Amino acid sequence: MGNGASASQPSSPRREPSPRKDASPRKSNNSPAQPSPRRQANQSTKPDRQNQRSDGQKGSDRQKGADARQQAVLDHHKKVTAAHARREQHEAARSGDTTPRNNDSLTHGAPKHAGGGAGGAGGGRRQAPVPANMTSPDQVVFETFTNSKGKEFICAYLAGKRYYLDSWHSQEWQPFPDRWYQEGSLRPLDDNQVQENYTSQSTYSQASSGQAGPAGRPQNRDDREGFLKHPKRGRVETYLMEEKRYVHFFFDKFSGNWLRLPVGWELHHPLIKNMVQHVEEALPKWKDPGDILAMLRVCNYNPDETIGTYLHLEGDEWLVPPKSTQSMSDGETLLDSLKQKVKKMEMELNDEKRQRKSAEKQLADLQEKFSGLSAEAGIARTQVEAMQTSRPRTAQRPKTPVTKKQAAKAVDTFDPAQLDELTSIAQQLHKAHTHLKMTVTSQVGAMKQLIVETVKGVKEIKNSESGSQAELDEIRALYQKEALQKRLLYNQLQELRGNIRVFCRPRKDTRCGTCFKFPSEQDIIVTNSEGSKKSFSFDKVYSTEATQEEVFKDTSPIIASCVDGYNVCLMAYGQTGSGKTYTMMGPDNNPGINIRAITELLKLCGERTETKSYTLKVSMVEIYNETLQDLLTEDVKTLELSMVGNMVRIPDITEMTVESVKDVKKIMELGDKNRSVAETKMNSTSSRSHLLLRIAVCGTDKVSGAVSNGVLTLCDLAGSERIGKTEAQGQRLVEAAAINKSLSALGQVFTALRSSQLHIPYRNSKLTQILRPCLGGDAKACVFVNVSPDVKNYPETCNTLEFGSNARQVALGQAKQNVRKAPGGP
Ligand code: ADP
Ligand code: MG
Repeated sequence: MGNGASASQPSSPRREPSPRKDASPRKSNNSPAQPSPRRQANQSTKPDRQNQRSDGQKGSDRQKGADARQQAVLDHHKKVTAAHARREQHEAARSGDTTPRNNDSLTHGAPKHAGGGAGGAGGGRRQAPVPANMTSPDQVVFETFTNSKGKEFICAYLAGKRYYLDSWHSQEWQPFPDRWYQEGSLRPLDDNQVQENYTSQSTYSQASSGQAGPAGRPQNRDDREGFLKHPKRGRVETYLMEEKRYVHFFFDKFSGNWLRLPVGWELHHPLIKNMVQHVEEALPKWKDPGDILAMLRVCNYNPDETIGTYLHLEGDEWLVPPKSTQSMSDGETLLDSLKQKVKKMEMELNDEKRQRKSAEKQLADLQEKFSGLSAEAGIARTQVEAMQTSRPRTAQRPKTPVTKKQAAKAVDTFDPAQLDELTSIAQQLHKAHTHLKMTVTSQVGAMKQLIVETVKGVKEIKNSESGSQAELDEIRALYQKEALQKRLLYNQLQELRGNIRVFCRPRKDTRCGTCFKFPSEQDIIVTNSEGSKKSFSFDKVYSTEATQEEVFKDTSPIIASCVDGYNVCLMAYGQTGSGKTYTMMGPDNNPGINIRAITELLKLCGERTETKSYTLKVSMVEIYNETLQDLLTEDVKTLELSMVGNMVRIPDITEMTVESVKDVKKIMELGDKNRSVAETKMNSTSSRSHLLLRIAVCGTDKVSGAVSNGVLTLCDLAGSERIGKTEAQGQRLVEAAAINKSLSALGQVFTALRSSQLHIPYRNSKLTQILRPCLGGDAKACVFVNVSPDVKNYPETCNTLEFGSNARQVALGQAKQNVRKAPGGP
């Protein structure tokens, strides 16, 4: 586990600086301040020497062990170096030989500065320090050297000498300069201990991890269920999920504590600025950086998820205030048209009211006129009567003498003809009045009826409007609840089974005997030629007679989750000739997992067309000597790969849309053809590279419009066998170093996942980078460990089975406690 060289202390500059290095001296050891974000969630992080706590925590125990091992290695190395120096001195004294020795024989390309790096005082090349994990002198040991600037080199130790690889590109092995032993550190490549070396590696790796969920929250699921009332969506079911989350902290040197970064500060962080800009560029409409950052936090600093969430919820009034720019849903449009109808009817009603008022006014005028006229008519009538009655009386006894003028006037005033005319006018008026009265009364009645009907109509519209809205809300809520429940149950089931399942498939081989025994469906016993036995357990151990169909049957359930938007990975691991390609690809007449999985995927998508529409895109890549090659282009193209949060981006990858198994077969043929072209070009063999077939499944829910993106990755890994000393030449050694690096990185990822480390070292190889979305988190993976029954392969078989056991414990040892710890928690 320690260094195999004279690298004194593990002072790799890429190791994350201890969060407490600037801690104020005021702080006492007994009252530890808020621990670093990583330490809060995972106490196994290396504690600072000055502040090492004596509370007997696992982490410090482990570290003590590691320190002890390092010290032992260091002592061993000192002894070896001292003995070697003594021997050299002795030999030089005996032979008088002072010429520098240069017998480097590892020449794929001749060493550029052979022996030039030897920095010893005598100029002679010293024996390279022996790697700590070297078990036999014939072994080729690969190591990683990290220099003081943080640059890494792959090294190979063989036949007492150490070499470093100039670059994957040049493939030049150079003798390891002696002075480098003082200028950096060496560590074995397949060291399973996770290196905490990610801080300076990339822009997106800077956010430190934390665990979600407040401390002390009861684990009872019911407590986490809840709801909120959305103005448009109505009752929305909620559930407080527990997920691994990034939480951005900053080191406050005044208090010596790590504190949460406020949003305002975080917006000035280059990494975050970069992410916010990325989202702004994708969504020019979304202008509020604070809002974007809030959503980024919610989406665990994953810009793609942020963009996806925004696009899905676009127009939601709780998220975006300006309403005019929002697109309305069907329900909203219906509601608006109904509102317009109501408005129109209200206007009509007002018009009618106005008309009614003017008619009433007219009526009142007419009534006034009529009453005026009838009053006049009454006066006239009384006057006439008075005249008729007063004439004889006046004739009998005229009291006041009537003047001529008066008499004439009286005659003028009471002209009977005039009177008759007046009477007839009055009668006509009366008639007209009665008619008008009747018309107005009937019109008012009709208007009343109209109003009653209008009010009734408005009421009906309002009722139907709220009814359909309520119905819609209810259906939506039900649907969402169902979907949530389904996902929860499925996740629970997967959790119980483990997210990474390991199946062991021994190949059938009639040419040799078998070293296997199968005591149960989960166990396998391997016996070597001397009769010593080793036993391993897996989720399933197939017999050598198991058919392709039987093998596929156990993986088909997880393929279903890919259709639901989960990332799924199926991979085959084992030495060359153990049946990886047979298991994954299989012969044409008896296809393996690849074709069966795609057939199943297409079948599942076809079954769900009523509720969802799917698009499937296939890509095929190969990883050879740490370079990623696109196999679906004419000239096999080298691809760049970048990490954005949890996502992997391969910008120029060729993706082909498929609709049937026939399409997929065609694409695989094309990829295979290109692979053989690449093989001839690069002088490689298929067993020396990793082959990855990726199927991106994008589903759109026809009811909710939600989009799910799942990726199925089918991976035929390079042969895991160790390189023999005789083959350790030039290109083979580079290939072996590359395979060793990537498969070790895969093992390290499993180890980190198994112990619920917050930092999973995905970045250590191209393979683990590309597989990142399929390992850890919600993703599901199936590892097939392929083994050969030939007893000759016993050592490789055991290595393979050990790798499988390591991966399997990821599933069994889900360290829930670590996951649940919240920053600042106990
Ligand atoms: P790998 O890809 O691991 O190098 P292959 O899949 O190419 O190994 O298998 C090597 C040979 O063994 C092939 O000829 C293959 O047909 C045969 N083989 C592997 N597994 C089986 C099996 N389960 N049944 C029959 N033949 C097998
Ligand atoms: Mg193969």
